[in-house]
Amino acid sequence: ALPLLLHLYIYRKTAPTSLPAFLLIGPSGAGKTALLTLLERGNPSPTHTSQAPLSVEITLPSDTAAASNKYRSASDPTAQKNSRFLLIDTPGHGKLRHFASAQLVAPQNLKGIIYLVDAANLSSDSAGVSGSSSSGLTEAAEYLHDILLALQKRYTNTKTSKGPGETPVLIAANKMDLFTALPAPLVKAALEAEITRVRDTRAKGLLDSGIGMDEDGDREERDWLGDGGEGKFTFKQMEEVNVVVEVKGGNVVGGQGGEVGEWWEWISRQL
Ligand code: GDP
Repeated sequence: ALPLLLHLYIYRKTAPTSLPAFLLIGPSGAGKTALLTLLERGNPSPTHTSQAPLSVEITLPSDTAAASNKYRSASDPTAQKNSRFLLIDTPGHGKLRHFASAQLVAPQNLKGIIYLVDAANLSSDSAGVSGSSSSGLTEAAEYLHDILLALQKRYTNTKTSKGPGETPVLIAANKMDLFTALPAPLVKAALEAEITRVRDTRAKGLLDSGIGMDEDGDREERDWLGDGGEGKFTFKQMEEVNVVVEVKGGNVVGGQGGEVGEWWEWISRQL
């Protein structure tokens, strides 16, 4: 059988902006380029350089029906339309991350965020004690912390009663073909624990400098991720600010040309 991803049709750049869009974010080395390369196979002139955001238009494989299409017949033209979406790639390199935050601030028809991580590079090493982000886990957690905090602020800063709509976040735990990869539930637990640590470190730094306190010397809640920034961070806490986080495993390369069915299933539910 053909690899699942080869069933996808890509049209670069020409895409109308009204299509539902997903942001692809993640630390360098997570596999974003590999994912897009797979999607772009067959394109005569791939020009992806990982230096600037790139939108690719993708049609869901026909065996992954979009949730909103469940009761439509295949001949219904809207069924075809609804399975198309944009995947906006953002460079993972630290200096270029503002591209990703700019998209977060002004999302255009944003249906969700896909945070790609290397599940085989999440073991915490003791070198991280110095506070530097030496381990893959720390880097992945710091980046994810900042994205979730940006989403939380977007929610709390919105003065209208309606607020921003729900922002679904998929943590796509990549490289499951490697035997050193953590399974999805452990990826979730490791990131939650490390984000707790990142938050505590940030809080301590800010409190020491007097920033992040209100007039009474209390912590300013809005600057801390999750439930007022106390105790253990869990992704579940993000639901209070309309951010629903799910963790699903997969692999872009290896096996039978990749195993990404759970990710497409998640995407199809958001369309
Ligand atoms: P990016 O920095 O996020 O764009 O990461 P890349 O796409 O450059 O991937 C980094 C490395 O991981 C490359 O050598 C890829 O071949 C490899 N890689 C990506 N996805 C997978 C996967 O699912 N399994 C394995 N074993 N390697 C992968």
